[in-house]
Amino acid sequence: MLLEKERQQIVETCLTMQRLNLVVGTAGNVSVRVGDHVAISPSGVEYDVMRAEDVVVTDLSGNLVEGALKPSSELPLHLSVYAATDAGAITHNHAPASTALGLIVDEIPTSHYYSSMFGGAIRVAPYATFGTDQLAINVSEALKDRQGALMSNHGAITIGPNLPKALSLLPYLEYICEIQLRVMATGLPVKILSDELMAEAGSLIKGYGQQPTK
Ligand code: 13P
Ligand code: ZN
Repeated sequence: MLLEKERQQIVETCLTMQRLNLVVGTAGNVSVRVGDHVAISPSGVEYDVMRAEDVVVTDLSGNLVEGALKPSSELPLHLSVYAATDAGAITHNHAPASTALGLIVDEIPTSHYYSSMFGGAIRVAPYATFGTDQLAINVSEALKDRQGALMSNHGAITIGPNLPKALSLLPYLEYICEIQLRVMATGLPVKILSDELMAEAGSLIKGYGQQPTK
């Protein structure tokens, strides 16, 4: 089986998104790029029955390379993001706070230093129907110089050099949105971090925790 390890990793990632309550039913999708190939979750398959062989492999133009099932309806979005960025993996979810916040703002204010993990203020891609080329364009633009974005009236997306990294960003994005929603509900002014403070946090986060020793 082509890309067996990556296809298994995609199934496990879908199950993790489900366990963390970041998706309902078959919402969301996950992909990995390896060279000229993309492995992507199949469309509308329940995560607890999804197997590695159900994950579809295409080329960078979306032509089928291996797999018996229909690929995610968001294949155009994933391909467009790979064309526009150097991402190695993409996770897309419909988490509640991310979806709710995307309905009331066009950009998440830099109220929490965690936004620096995403490259700065996180944008909300304008709405377009799921699975369309227009949605692919809107989301690719929102991801410019960012590791994540919200999708208006829909959900959220994160990217990373590999799947564990892209997945690890999803709960942080949901947390930032949850906090922002709570403070907006008070109606009180929100304290915003300057670009300088965000940049400082961003560079510290790169070296945060236990770094591999040479
Ligand atoms: P798929 O099951 O086709 O991946 O669609 C789910 C989704 O989240 C659409 O945006
Ligand atoms: Zn979706």
